[in-house]
Amino acid sequence: MKRLICCAMSLALVAAAAARPSRAADAPAPGKIRVLVTVGGHGYEEQPFDAMFKAMPNITFTKVELPKQAGLLKPGLEKDYDVIVMYDMVGAISPQQQEAFVDLLKKGIGVVSLHHNMGAHQGWDEFHRIIGGKFCTKDCTIDGKPYKTSTWDHDQDLNVTVADPKHPITRDLKDFAIHDETYKGYWVSPKVRVLLKTDHPKNSPEIAWVTSFGNSKVFYLMLGHDSQAWKNPNFTELLSRGMRWAATKGPAKGPGRGKAKGK
Ligand SMILES: [Zn+2]
Repeated sequence: MKRLICCAMSLALVAAAAARPSRAADAPAPGKIRVLVTVGGHGYEEQPFDAMFKAMPNITFTKVELPKQAGLLKPGLEKDYDVIVMYDMVGAISPQQQEAFVDLLKKGIGVVSLHHNMGAHQGWDEFHRIIGGKFCTKDCTIDGKPYKTSTWDHDQDLNVTVADPKHPITRDLKDFAIHDETYKGYWVSPKVRVLLKTDHPKNSPEIAWVTSFGNSKVFYLMLGHDSQAWKNPNFTELLSRGMRWAATKGPAKGPGRGKAKGK
């Protein structure tokens, strides 16, 4: 994470019409998904990142930068977008902006949190309960338990195994390998449903999970440092499925919802 070194270190590192039959909670949303992508607080390869989203046939996307445009994350956004893909590692937003974001999630909008987004908002505990994990850029305490600074390593080959083949995001997905960055020692909420794991010694085991907050579905995927990972078809498939799943209205339901499979 050359860029995390510079960035993290420098931080010190719908309601449906009554006549229309309601969809099953985990059924895919029809039509094109309207995606808002957040970036900021961490460098990334902009051209291939944008190209990846442009190549997805079933979405439209708009990119915004945090914290500059954090004022957009408020109730009403759910009318214009189905899902927020968070690829920012923003240091902080104002308490009023935090409150507005929580109110938005209570209204209901899909959330897909990617990679270094787990290290965003170091001082805002509720954000980490929302996404179900925290990469600690310095020693931190979560629910009264101390955690050492999380670690990372570039250019690693990870074997990824499907921990839960029953979820729509991982159904029929085969185990795969990916060249990506490792993260280790991060906090994973005991409330999440773990979908993917790795046995890489430089990575914590849980690398993808689902959870929910308010009326919003949340999918977290630890993978995705750069274009080497983005060009892996398994990554784009997971991202695409995750967006579609999170875009369905209502909190996550069904077997395993909230079941603790992580630490
Ligand atoms: Zn990274």
